[in-house]
Amino acid sequence: MKMSLTVGRALALLAASWLCASAAVGQGAGAAASASGAAVAPRSEVIDAARLLRDVEALAADEMQGRKTGTEGGAKARDYVVDAFRRCGLKPFGASYLQPFSFERGGKTYAGSNVVGYVEGKSKGAARRLVVSAHYDHVGVVRGEIYNGADDNASGVAALLAMAEYFGRHKPAHPIVFAAFDAEELGLQGSRWFVKSPPVDLKTVVAEVNMDMVSRSDRNELYAAGAHPYPFLKPYLDRVAAAAPVHLLEGHDDPKLGRGDWTLQSDHGAFHKAGIPFVYFGVEDHKDYHKPTDDFSNINREFFVRATETILSAVKLLDENLDAISASAAAAVKK
Ligand SMILES: [Zn+2]
Repeated sequence: MKMSLTVGRALALLAASWLCASAAVGQGAGAAASASGAAVAPRSEVIDAARLLRDVEALAADEMQGRKTGTEGGAKARDYVVDAFRRCGLKPFGASYLQPFSFERGGKTYAGSNVVGYVEGKSKGAARRLVVSAHYDHVGVVRGEIYNGADDNASGVAALLAMAEYFGRHKPAHPIVFAAFDAEELGLQGSRWFVKSPPVDLKTVVAEVNMDMVSRSDRNELYAAGAHPYPFLKPYLDRVAAAAPVHLLEGHDDPKLGRGDWTLQSDHGAFHKAGIPFVYFGVEDHKDYHKPTDDFSNINREFFVRATETILSAVKLLDENLDAISASAAAAVKK
């Protein structure tokens, strides 16, 4: 299929940045040091890699106490994300970025809050838009140990912020809603609440892009799930995979795989249940999954930056082709 000029150019630019990453050409003079002064950020032409790492480091710090919903640590993480949304220039729906909700679980009532904002698009009106999301909560302190959840899912939130920052500087074709969901670890509560009481008409949401665990893979492998239930998304994922610096593998979205089917295992599941096509980006579970050792020091910085660039190129491609995707989705429903 012939690529449109804009997308081809965008991908060529991205490919160029990946090529010269090792040559350390790019944003800012000299290697950027993290707040701890130790870490050096890989270079990127398209995202602020040092900022990306600083956001993970901050969200996965002990002071966030593992970011459990309804705890002091969870509130600290929420406030951090609100400040970051403001920093990225995202607009709130109404007066606040917060979308509070409450739910019962295990005989306990929890108060949670999604953090939601948007960027406008070049298109007149908002007949079509994307939602891009990542959950910011984790499991908190368990048996006295802090579960910092650096990969799960401070990494997804940092990638979300990098994209918000990017689209704040590069206006997308269509509006994009950015959602940092709460209470994913307690049963996808935040995304289910968002779908139940959306800040926008859900009929205008053509697709949802969710990120959950995107910073660790010893095999340089990032998965994109969604093309099995939504085959019209496959050509776009194939194009991203062909130019990506990580191995972008499509899969983990076939019910025949049982637990290997990730369709309902993170926030995209709430959108899928509402009939909204999704693309979920994530890595295979690793030895520190849901362990107190899922720490900032264990993330793979090079992989993380390249995975974030890859997801950004996917969001750009979906945005550029949203009208065609919307038509394919409508045709698929009719079948
Ligand atoms: Zn997660």
